[in-house]
Amino acid sequence: MMDVPFVDLKTQHARLLPEISQRLQAILSAAQFVGGSEVSGFEEEFAAFCSARACAGVASGTEALTLALLALGLSSGDEVITVPNTFIATTEAISRAGGTFRFVDCHPETFTLDPGQIERALTDRVVGIVPIHLYGHPADMDPIVDVSQRHGLWVLEDAAQAHGAAYKGRRCGSIGMMGCFSFYPGKNLGACGEAGAVVSNETELVEKVRVLRDHGQAEKHVHLAEGYNGRLDAMQAAILRIKLRHLEEWNERRRWAAAAYRDRLGSVPEISLPVEAPYARAVYHLYVIRTDERDRLRDRLSAKGIGSGLHYPIPLHLQPAYGDRGFHRGEFPEVERLAAQGLSLPMHPELTEPQIDYVAEAIGAFFGHRLS
Ligand SMILES: *Cc1c(COP(=O)(O)O)cnc(C)c1O
Repeated sequence: MMDVPFVDLKTQHARLLPEISQRLQAILSAAQFVGGSEVSGFEEEFAAFCSARACAGVASGTEALTLALLALGLSSGDEVITVPNTFIATTEAISRAGGTFRFVDCHPETFTLDPGQIERALTDRVVGIVPIHLYGHPADMDPIVDVSQRHGLWVLEDAAQAHGAAYKGRRCGSIGMMGCFSFYPGKNLGACGEAGAVVSNETELVEKVRVLRDHGQAEKHVHLAEGYNGRLDAMQAAILRIKLRHLEEWNERRRWAAAAYRDRLGSVPEISLPVEAPYARAVYHLYVIRTDERDRLRDRLSAKGIGSGLHYPIPLHLQPAYGDRGFHRGEFPEVERLAAQGLSLPMHPELTEPQIDYVAEAIGAFFGHRLS
């Protein structure tokens, strides 16, 4: 039996260990743990990577979303349009920033916010739209930005799963008014702890995030308003700088793995594979197939030593946390179908061809096919 982990950070870190430990030792000796040159260096490098004018490092992806929404001026009574097939951090941030959310259904093939649904969800309280570049596949930004401009709304990209993804050649995160990233360990670019970032071409908005993340201080001892303890620390920044140099190569590796899965699984009629829209360069944070036999297939894979995941089996509108909001089952059919059928296969830059063959054979055998 072959072991195919869902993600493999141990292998990734083993290769980088000498470089990482050297940097961490230097930081320990300098005792510069919060802010400093590692943080500002990472911010410059990540802004350049995203083709954005500015970047502010923050404590997590959730913090990035919250502080970006506050910088955009979200306040009590404001509504934000987003989808229910995302991690709850997206809606938590909207609530924590004082707003409320209105859900729309996702596109049936890319699972990102369906631009055709926006207009009928508009109210006079809606101030912005938060598309998610889910699983590393860009949302269809042109029509989203188009609607936003016609109605005077801002667009904030949740790019927590899309470091390096591109929409018509433009990097995700730099297309809307602001873009938010998470560097949670398992993301395409992951810290060794919690970290996140906000990027934007509007430097004043990024400046606002810098003030908010540091207790409302624009300069030491002067608090313009109450803020947050939401900073990025130097050790995470140093690790992210080292890993950022490998991100392109890792994303290419993910794209290669996705193509290898497609090649082997394309002939299995019982499953649907992820598609890449003509406008998209996806970076496959996750590789999510769909099948009516999801739970039984997952058990079979597990018995064969193959890790898998669910993203996300209970959509946000059906979560107990939002049980008092008047949502009902059947309201967002595409989102609900994905929640019932989606199965995330192993996907990471360290996947080998024999591992992909083994996963594909196990899936084929489950449905009674011999793949060769
Ligand atoms: C991971 C993730 C977040 C939250 O990031 P954290 O760093 O864990 O706070 C937000 N949105 C999406 C879509 C994510 O995948």
